[in-house]
This record gives sequence, C-alpha cells and structure tokens, in this order.
Amino acid sequence: MILPGATLGMLGGGQLGRLFTRAAHELGYRVLVLDPDPHSPAGRIADGHLEAPYDDDAALQELGRQCAVVTTEFENVPAATLERLAAWCLVRPHAAAVRTTQNRIREKRFIRSLGLATAPFAVIELAADLAAAARARAVRFPALLKRAELGYDGKGQLAVGTADGLAAAFRELGEVPCVLEEKVDLACELSVVVARTADGAMLPFPVTDNAHRGGILHRSVAPAPVAPALAEAARQAAERCAEALDFVGVMAVEFFVDDAGRLLVNEIAPRTHNSGHWTLDACVTSQFEQQVRMVCGLPFGSNAQHSAAVMINLLGDLWQDGEPRWPDLLADADTKLHLYGKRTARPGRKMGHFTCVGPESGPLLARAEALFDRLRP
Ligand code: AMP
Repeated sequence: MILPGATLGMLGGGQLGRLFTRAAHELGYRVLVLDPDPHSPAGRIADGHLEAPYDDDAALQELGRQCAVVTTEFENVPAATLERLAAWCLVRPHAAAVRTTQNRIREKRFIRSLGLATAPFAVIELAADLAAAARARAVRFPALLKRAELGYDGKGQLAVGTADGLAAAFRELGEVPCVLEEKVDLACELSVVVARTADGAMLPFPVTDNAHRGGILHRSVAPAPVAPALAEAARQAAERCAEALDFVGVMAVEFFVDDAGRLLVNEIAPRTHNSGHWTLDACVTSQFEQQVRMVCGLPFGSNAQHSAAVMINLLGDLWQDGEPRWPDLLADADTKLHLYGKRTARPGRKMGHFTCVGPESGPLLARAEALFDRLRP
C-alpha cells in the first residue's frame, strides 16, 4: 500500500486531474502534475507542476523519481510515456490498457472480441477503403466518420448523410485512419464508472443516464431511470472490459441503447469520467477518491449512493455574454457548484458543473434544468 504522505503523479492537468488532486490532498497525499499548459487546472492546486510535453524525458524522469505511482486523467497521453515511466515507478493503469482505448479501431475490435456489441462500423485507413466500405454495406447511412485517434467530446468526427459524402468527409478529417460508424437511433445513453484493484476486485458506481448536446455531455442522472436488467447488463459489460484490460484504477464505459433496447458499447475511457462527477456530492466515496485508493493499493471506499443526483455541465458558451448569473444557483441549498479555475472560456470548453441532490431524481431533473436556464447572463 502506498500510504498518505507519499507523492502521486498525474499525467494531465485538466479538471479530472484537479478533482483527483483535491481527493488526494484530503487523504494526505502530495500530487505532482505533468501538463504542458502553465495554467492547467490541476497544476494550479498541486504540490508541484512539471510544465513539459508528455514525451519530455527529463520531466518523466523527475516524475518517476518523485512519485510512488503515476496515473492519468487524459487518454491521449502517449502510451509510450506510460511505458517509459514504468522503468522508474508504479504506473496504474498500465500502458497496454491505455493503448487499447486510445485508438477507436483497436478499441472497437477489443470490445467485439469480448462478445460485446458495438454500433456497426467499418475501418477506413486509406482512400481505397472508402469504396470497399460503401460496397460492403456493413454500415448504413446516415453514419459518422470518426478519426481513430485524438478525438474527444465530438471533436474529430463528421456526420455523413450518404455514401456520396464519404470521400469529402475523409479528406476533411485529413485522410487519417478513421472508423465509419452507423448512426444509432438512440433510446438513451448510459455509462458505468468502475474501480478495479491490482488483484482484480471490482466495484462499479451506480449506472448513469447521460444526455449529450452537440456531442458533448450536457447532463447526467443517477441512478439511471432504466430497467434493472438493462442496468445490470451495463454493469456486467463494464466489468468485462475492465477485467480484460487488466485495468488498475478507475475507468468508464459509455453505452448507447438503441430504439430496440439493445445495449451497444460506445467507448471506454481509461480514467475517471465526466458522467461520474455526481459521485462527488451523492456517494460515500467519489470516483476521484476511489481512483486515489485504487492507484495506491488501498481498499475500496463505499460506492453507496446516499442521494439521487442530476449533474449539468457548464460549458464556455455560457460565458459568451459575460459572467453567468450565479445567485439563483447559489441560493439552492441542495445544489453544489464546482468551477475548475480555467482562465478563459471558449465555446465547448468544460468550465465547471453543478449537481442537484435529493431523495428522487424525477423532480431534480426539472429543477436542475431550470437552474441551468437561469444562469445565462
Ligand atoms: P463520442 O465522442 O464518439 O462518444 O461521441 C459523442 C456523442 O455523440 C455520443 O455520446 C452520442 O451522443 C453522439 N454519437 C456519437 N456516435 C454516435 C452514433 N454512432 N450514433 C448516435 N449518436 C452518436
């Protein structure tokens, strides 16, 4: 066990790293962040901040020298960085788990190899694959063309209405390897955040129902108002993924539920997840404390949910006409505001979130959306 007082390394200084740092501090750990951004949200509150690229060897050596264990908050940290670090210190999750989830082609093949369903997809690596994909008709249109790497929050993907639009979309994405994915008629989207220890014990948080706007998470409701059998299937699928990745830490699996009620795995995040932020205010142990516990080899904290929760993201768009109007939100005694300390608000940038808690999620949903509507300046 890595005990309080030790220094923990965090690759990535965004809000997930900041919330991890807060949880680690509460348990008496020190945190050293590596992030090239001098104003990174986690770097501002951590005990140390190495401002360097993720492949900077001197910075990685320093991280390895100071830290008992290094983890990540950002799936686009090169897997080679994790491999390099493993020469000096414990790295959790290990590089291979992150590598699988960093590339949509590898990720989807991995998911299918477990016998889990995904949306129908075709791999497009070269322009020559376009015609073959259209001929094979494995994917019906409308579809989405997604870059295999370095896309998130709906970035690096384009809607393609018909096979005729495919070549132009591939060019627009830079002719890099992509997956062409059928557009699913969504009944809902779910996610499961699951913690796994080094010896393979697993503890999932309650299943969450997620609504997206423009490809970015807008709202999460927990527990998800879905049939118990569907929630159980999602939990089991998430555990299958965590186990097969031999994952140590906290990770998330996102699902589509189609209009026939089928559960399809969308993607795997090898880290804490935006759809688990509600655990900060409605669970005995938050996903961030659980991440600290897992990477340090401590036992699980309880995953018990003591309140229903609705979380709403605050994107930079809200700041476009000035500072949001906070008073009504702050006057709501059962609402918790979390701002990430980002200096500039840009459209689509996650600036913070708030969570409404109460005995049941039904009435919370309307309350949370009304509070959100009143924030606009
Ligand atoms: P992603 O970054 O791939 O998780 O996509 C972000 C969001 O876009 C998802 O959570 C969905 O709301 C939507 N989306 C992405 N792919 C599909 C799809 N194949 N069918 C329907 N909606 C999708």
